[in-house]
Parts: sequence; structure tokens; C-alpha cells
Amino acid sequence: MKGSLSQPVTSLKGIGSARAAELKNLRITRIRDFFYHFPRDYQDRRKVIPIAEAVPGKTATVRGRVKDARTFRTRGKYMITRITFTDRSGEINGIWFNQPYITNSLKSGKDYCLSGKVEEGNREKHSRREIINPVQEEWEVDRPLHTRRIVPIYPLTEGLSQRRFREFIFRAVNNHAEELQDWLPDKIIEKYDFPELSRAIREIHFSRDREGYFKARQMLIFSEFFLLQLKLQQSKKRIFGSPGISLTADPELTVKFLETLNFELTGAQKKVWHEIARDMEKNRPMRRLLQGDVGSGKTIIAALALLAAFASKRPALYMAPTEILAEQQYLTLKNLYREIPCQVGLLTGSQPEEKKTDRMEALLDGKIDILVGTHALYSGDYRLARPGLIVIDEQHKFGVRQRQKLIAAGNNSDLLVMTATPIPRSLALTLYGELDISTIEELPPGRRPVRTYVRGTESRDKVYDYLARRIAEDERAFVVCPVIEPSREIPELTSCQEMQSYLTDNFIPGKKTAVLHGQKNPEEREAILAKFRSGEIRVLIATTVIEVGVDIPEATMMVIENADRFGLAQLHQLRGRVGRSASPSLCVLIAEPATEEGRRRLEALKSSGDGFVIAERDLEIRGPGEFFGTEQHGLPELKIADLRRDKRLLRLARQEAREIMAAGQGLDFLQRINIDLEELELII
Ligand code: ADP
Ligand code: MG
Repeated sequence: MKGSLSQPVTSLKGIGSARAAELKNLRITRIRDFFYHFPRDYQDRRKVIPIAEAVPGKTATVRGRVKDARTFRTRGKYMITRITFTDRSGEINGIWFNQPYITNSLKSGKDYCLSGKVEEGNREKHSRREIINPVQEEWEVDRPLHTRRIVPIYPLTEGLSQRRFREFIFRAVNNHAEELQDWLPDKIIEKYDFPELSRAIREIHFSRDREGYFKARQMLIFSEFFLLQLKLQQSKKRIFGSPGISLTADPELTVKFLETLNFELTGAQKKVWHEIARDMEKNRPMRRLLQGDVGSGKTIIAALALLAAFASKRPALYMAPTEILAEQQYLTLKNLYREIPCQVGLLTGSQPEEKKTDRMEALLDGKIDILVGTHALYSGDYRLARPGLIVIDEQHKFGVRQRQKLIAAGNNSDLLVMTATPIPRSLALTLYGELDISTIEELPPGRRPVRTYVRGTESRDKVYDYLARRIAEDERAFVVCPVIEPSREIPELTSCQEMQSYLTDNFIPGKKTAVLHGQKNPEEREAILAKFRSGEIRVLIATTVIEVGVDIPEATMMVIENADRFGLAQLHQLRGRVGRSASPSLCVLIAEPATEEGRRRLEALKSSGDGFVIAERDLEIRGPGEFFGTEQHGLPELKIADLRRDKRLLRLARQEAREIMAAGQGLDFLQRINIDLEELELII
């Protein structure tokens, strides 16, 4: 019997190849898959009321005997079937649209259970109430499935009806659920008083009561998190179990470097630097996430870590998600190391091939110690150089695939992954369970909070009039637009081009504005940023390319057009480009939020300057998928658990997984359940 859960769905009565193809769209190919296709909702159809008590406007479940049936065609295109049902209290008409065959399945004189929305009938022709497109089921059945119970509603694709699908699941559960074997450790099952797996699956689909359902749900959510955590921790163990490279900072060099800075490290920076230095020294690969709000000073930390690699005579890579950031950081690092004999090189995708090859060779030959670049770095032979350290900056800007590749590609190199999108702890544990985390919790002194305003488009003139006055006094401003050129599809988007003419024509005559976006070539980009830095250009109109890495303290004002179109974390990042000096800065969000949710998001940004608070809010309002951008979130696909809602269970699951790992039983456990059941890949 054991293998029957892995049998194809066609082994179930009533499923032929056509059905199987439809089910495949739902990723249901084996009997077992039915169990884990969880309901998206439930309807309580337990209470059967007398027909006379069915109230228009409400959903009701009644029992009635078929009296007469009629199908007719309306003047329009509808076929209407009307069947009258009676009970001792009264009569009601069941109405079906375009389902003439229903008359064949309902037999005259027989009793049925009907459930659906009740409406006031058409008064002139017949005064009976109607129940529209009701679910119907014969009264004399052994076990009612579609009525008289809590009925599961499934996420489905076209072609499959709830009714048909429910019957399949019912059959699968009845015939096969008992074959499910419990895989959670007995200790855990006892501790949390979890039901057996077969019972839980039964309850989640065809629950009999609240309590049973609740327990089943808890158990399944826990199981999902538990496996996820075990996997993460196992992969962490695998990485850390392999020999790494010990990189040791040279105290003299470090001191010399710190002395060239015109500031002291903050306490938070010192703390994370110690954590990182200690980790790099260890004889095992480092896998560390450094998170810190925009402007918290992560670059210096990266520079210190890179310097430790240099001191240990190992090449190092510094990888940025955009060419602009790579170019900026290349200049920054060169400047930071100006008194240290450490050679920095730049490699980006838009460089000519020979140049790229040349840089890679220089790294291999030891002529370059630190190579800064975009992911173009990874197309080269960097592995041959056996980098001691790889720093990945703004890692959230890389796609999921890239990110996984980056983390995996490091082999036994030390890896320092940095992000300014603070990841709420609940997510960090899940997403980055294989990484250790260091957090810079404090901004450098002297930073002033950026005052933030939300304004509608009607205030635009006023906003830019004010901006023009500010830049007249040696200040700089950013204007962020969602697109470069006007968009035909979405005309309400402000483009950089339009913005430049609007500003030049109305407020800032002459050549004090410039447009910056990712499609400009590196020389142009560099020239524009240099002019902006020097003050020749006063207003930088840009797409979100400036989101990361642009560090120009004189900029004290930012206006973001169509702000409701950006993610909250992204807006926070953008805003982080100002407020970098002692003068007060402000940020104006021009937006016409179409929804209440949109409005709340902007409010959240206005009321907090703390990236962590904003990230938590964003997560609350939009959910984890949206939080990371639907395409790129890289979250595990959870079938029943929800990272927002089920934080408590996530914590418990994590703790239990840790205990198993600590007892050295993790791999055993995973192997055992892998062999016994294919549950694992299925659930996660
Ligand atoms: P981020 O964490 O966003 O990458 P950066 O590393 O770009 O931030 O730092 C932002 C700015 O703060 C830079 O101009 C940097 O020189 C400055 N900075 C970093 N650390 C300190 C500090 N301890 N004191 C004062 N300024 C600092
Ligand atoms: Mg940075």
C-alpha cells in the first residue's frame, strides 16, 4: 500500500487523462498532491432552515422536494432553468443559468438540499423567492459533501468546478489519507498536542469542528516552517562544515586606514566590525548579512573587511547591483585607500571585452587587489583568483536567481552580503536562515531626520517654486521620476524628459538641471555626478538609479513624482539620498494614491524615518511577496503558512529545528523522512 500515494491521479476513480491535464495545471499529478492542495476558504452550510425562513439577500441552506421544473430562454442569450422546491413551510424556486442539464439530475418527488443566495422573486409572474445558482445535493446520501457541512472552497483553474474537485479530494482523502505517515518527531507531536498527519489532512479539507480544524492548521503550518528551518540550518551547517580561509586584519593597517577618515566609527559600526573581523578570522567560510539603514555607513565596514583580505594577501571582490553604484564605490574605495598600497580595479558589463579580460587578468596576477564591479564579475574567471572575500552590496537589488548564485558561488570564500532594505526579523530568519546577521542600529551623529510631506499633483507648482528658491542658495536637489520618456500606456507618469522642460521653462532657466538614468553611458554618468557634486548642476532629475550609492551631502531636498507607484522600502531608500549633512533636509512625495492602502503606505513613510519600522509596516500592509517585489522576492513558496500571520509558529519551529540540529540529528532526520516520504519537497 505504501507506494499508492505516489500513484498518478488517474488511479483515482473518475479521473481520466483530460482531467489529469487540468489537475496538472494545479500541480496535482499524484494522489498525494491532493492532500496538500489546501482550501482557500470554507463555507459553513451546516444549518438547514425551513424554506419559509430563507431571507432575501442572505445565503441559506434549505431542504426541499422537487415539484416542477421548466427551462426557458430569455430574450437575451440566457437559458434559465427554474425548479420549484417545497417543504412543509413553503416553496422556493431554484434558478440556474445556462445549465439546462440540471433538470436531468434532479428527480421529481425527491428531496434535495440546496444552498445559495436567496433573492426576492419576480413579483408579477410568481411571488416565490428564488435561490440563485444553488449548490444542490441529494438529501439521502451517506455523507453529504457539498451541503450540510463546513464545505471547503479551493483555488482552482478554469475548467474545474468546485463540486467536481471537491469530489476528487474527498475520494483521495477517504481512500488514502490513512497511508500518510507521521514524520514529525514524537516528542514534538506530544509537546504541542498535534493530531496525526492523516487526521490533520482530513480536518483541513473536511473539518468537522472548529477545534479540530484549528489544531490541524497549527500542525500543518508548524510542519511547513519546521522543514524549511531544518533545510536552512542544514545548508548552513554544510557551508560552515567545509574548510574556509582565515583572513586576519592587520592592526597597523587598520589603524592607519581609520586615521585617514575625518570621522570616528560609531559604536554600532565598531560592534559590527568586530563581529565581522572575528568571523573572517575563523577557519570556516563566513556567510554574513550586514544590514543597516540607508546612510548608516556600511561602506566603511566593507572597506575594512576588504582591507583585511588585502592584509592576508588574498584578492577580494566587491559587487554592486548597478553600474552607477559600482562606479561610485570604485571611486569611494580608491579614495579611502589613498594612503594604502592597495590596488582597486573596476569591471562592469558595459566595458569593452578587452578591458574586462585585462582587469580579470590583473586580479589573477595580483596587480589588482580589490576588483569592484557588477555581476559581470561573475562571468569572468574570478574563481581562479580564489578570492578570500566577496562583498555583495545592496543585495536586495539582485534578482533571486542571481542572489542564490552569488551566495552559492562563493564556495569557501568569505561572503559579506550588505543590504539597506532592513529585513524584518521574521523574514530574515526565514529568508536568510543560512546567514549570520550583523546590524548597524545607529546612524552617524549629526544626521537630521528628513521632514517628509505628501502632496497632490495640484501642489506641484508650489513645490517646485520652493525647490527653485532653495537651490538658489547653494543647495542641491533630486527629482525622481518613474520613467525616462513619456509613457503612452500610462500617461499620468511623470517622465524625466518632461520634468526637465517643465523645470527649465518655469523655474530654473539655464543649464542647472540634468537628467540621469541607467541608459546613459558610464562617462556621461560620471560627468553628470561630478558636476552635481561641484554645484554646476543644481537639480538632478533621475530615475530610481540613484536609489543606491549616490552620496552627495549638499543635496538637501528630494521630490518624488508618482510616489504611490514605488514600494515603501524603495521610497525610504530614495529619501536616504538626502539628510546627509547638518542642514535640514526635506522630501516631498507627489502622489495621488488610488487606494486606501496606498494612502496608508505614504503615511507610514511620513511618520517614520526608521527603516526597520517602515519595513515592518510595509510587510504588514502589503505582505512579503509585495514587500520584495513579486518577481524577485525569492521567498519559499509556502502552502499554508504565512510569514506575517504565523510568526509565533515560525519561532517555535525554528527553535525545535535548532534543537534537532544541535543534537546532531538534523541530517539523520532529514534523510529518514526523505526516504520514508517524499513529503519534503512537496511541502516546501
Ligand atoms: P550606507 O550604509 O547607506 O551604504 P554609506 O556607507 O554610503 O552608507 O555612508 C553614508 C555617509 O556617511 C558617507 O558619506 C560616509 O562617509 C558617512 N559616514 C559613515 N560612517 C560615518 C561615521 N561614523 N561618522 C560620520 N560619517 C560617517
Ligand atoms: Mg551603501
